[in-house]
Amino acid sequence: MRVLIALGGNAMTSPEGHARPEDQITAITQAMEPVADLIASGVDVVLTHGNGPQVGNLLVKNELAASVVPPVTLDWCGAQTQGTIGFVTVNALQRALHGRGIDRQAAAVVTRARVDADDPGLANPTKPIGRYLPRDEAQVLIEHGQVWEDRGERGWRRMVASPEPREILDAPAVSALIRAGFVVVANGGGGIPVVRDPDGTVRGVEAVIDKDLGAALLARMLDVDTLVIATDVDGAVLDYGTPRERALGLVDVPTMRKHAAEGHFAGGSMGPKVEACCRFVENGGRRAVITSLGRIADAVSDDVGTTVVPAA
Ligand code: ADP
Ligand code: MG
Repeated sequence: MRVLIALGGNAMTSPEGHARPEDQITAITQAMEPVADLIASGVDVVLTHGNGPQVGNLLVKNELAASVVPPVTLDWCGAQTQGTIGFVTVNALQRALHGRGIDRQAAAVVTRARVDADDPGLANPTKPIGRYLPRDEAQVLIEHGQVWEDRGERGWRRMVASPEPREILDAPAVSALIRAGFVVVANGGGGIPVVRDPDGTVRGVEAVIDKDLGAALLARMLDVDTLVIATDVDGAVLDYGTPRERALGLVDVPTMRKHAAEGHFAGGSMGPKVEACCRFVENGGRRAVITSLGRIADAVSDDVGTTVVPAA
């Protein structure tokens, strides 16, 4: 049994959303406890993770230090956060495994996700990232070629491209490590977005990939049985935030697609999780689960949270 777990923001920041180094280490250390339990039960686990708050922090450093140190592009931010989050995760996981008397190695892979050079998402920035700024400060960055949008009361926010992941280029490296017995952390932040040039070379692009969509693709490429999207709610609900709210348990893909088309899942949060689950199952995956971090051990065997399965 092989499972890919996608860890959300709550596995990497404090309950209040703080992302100081100690907050991240504490949250990841806690998150690795249920992950280690799962590994102890004999399940083959692969991990991936988000990186929103961490990239947000890097962007602030870029902006504040721009006159001293050249700012780096978003693909570099992706690579850097894969590195630091991977490092902290591997440390925490090995510690949790050691505490259970399990002698397994863990490794983090800097992972590239190929996107299409002509993806409409590259030309049309739709994803808000980083901090809010007042108009005059945003204007300076707009003059440097960035796209910023007036987001109303809270101020202006940078908008970046969010293309579709097409292929996880380093999936073969992840597979080789799994075969060698490693617990692998890979494709953080959805993967570092790259395009392939006509001569076959690969280069990074200024974009971010949705973590959940990247997870669905990696899960298929690694032929995992179950995709688990671990987040800060027990599952997806219909009529979210209204008095009619009701939890979704076991759902088949066509039904889930219908709920999504009716607009039940917010874009940028639950929407991509539901889309990721549907894609994984439509492309041959057995089941995909959206649930809270604390319940991931059960998610592998029982229908906890929201479980998406193929049509009967
Ligand atoms: P993560 O960091 O784990 O990716 P997100 O914040 O992106 O988490 O997504 C989880 C959030 O999605 C929940 O905390 C909830 O506020 C929001 N959400 C939006 N629509 C729904 C829905 N229909 N059902 C449940 N949660 C929803
Ligand atoms: Mg998210």
